[in-house]
Amino acid sequence: MAKPLVAFYWCASCGGCEEAVVDLAEDILKVADAVEFRLWPVALDFKYADVEAMPDKSIAVSFINGAVRTEEQEHLAKLLRQKSQLVIAFGACAHLGGIPGLANVANKNEIFETAYKLTRSTANPKGVYPQTVTETEYGKLKLPEFFDTVKTLDQTVEVDYYLPGCAPPPDLIMQGVTAILEGKLPPKGSVLTVEKALCETCERNKSKPDKLMIKEVKRISEVIADPEKCFLAEGIICLGPATRGGCGERCINANMPCRGCFGPTKEVKDMGAKFLSSLASIIDVDDEKEIEKIAESVLDPIGLFYMYSLPSSILRRKQGV
Ligand code: SF4
Ligand code: SF4
Repeated sequence: MAKPLVAFYWCASCGGCEEAVVDLAEDILKVADAVEFRLWPVALDFKYADVEAMPDKSIAVSFINGAVRTEEQEHLAKLLRQKSQLVIAFGACAHLGGIPGLANVANKNEIFETAYKLTRSTANPKGVYPQTVTETEYGKLKLPEFFDTVKTLDQTVEVDYYLPGCAPPPDLIMQGVTAILEGKLPPKGSVLTVEKALCETCERNKSKPDKLMIKEVKRISEVIADPEKCFLAEGIICLGPATRGGCGERCINANMPCRGCFGPTKEVKDMGAKFLSSLASIIDVDDEKEIEKIAESVLDPIGLFYMYSLPSSILRRKQGV
């Protein structure tokens, strides 16, 4: 029997999702045995033209990681959508916009100015910025357009399923791949993990007082957190109440609070807003000055509350830039 054809592609990402596939260890041999790869730029030398020549829907499943930042990434996402029966948003950046999505607090010009002019290690007296076409004595050099706004994968093409996480844990990847190969998939549009919030499975939940109230917000870098106690009850921001579980509490077990890479639960539309409203309801301070002091102690609210989810949030990007 012919093996199902599979594609992997990376858009704006750090490479961690590719690493997560390699982290399948010997399980990757089971995957390689069950499928035939047709595109995997990080590992195999297929050309885009090979994919363009394939009949529509001939690829069984495309796993796409990374947010959509450039014209090339948008083209490949659309091409793989056309050629694939299933498209999986693999990892937090494809799912929610991820860390690259925090660039939506600036526009393209500001990013270019910072990266190609203002950084201390840059010497660019003529202010030369990347161009989509540059004439040289050897011919035209082309670069893909760099978009003003970072998009999630499903803001670019229709997505069938989401494998969450930064990066998705190996057991979740294997469960997802097995469900796809065996045709035992949940309804289209599902996030391939549990529906519960992280707090519901977190061991530290037991240490939460019945009525959770805090008088100050502490940064994790400023304290030595008690490994038995709920971070939030100790005044340390932990996005567990607004985040979907299923990650295996990787950060919590390493004594680090959750930063929300699994995205919101089904009921939550905007995880940053949801978390902010939960936080506001547990701050046990009435004095206006004290409240201002707490607000000021959160140095980077967008980076904290929308670390993985800015492009998928209601805010989506900074307006008027
Ligand atoms: S807030 Fe964080 S530490 Fe507390 S129970 Fe939820 S996930 Fe666990
Ligand atoms: S604890 Fe939060 S940030 Fe850490 S892996 Fe789980 S969902 Fe992601």
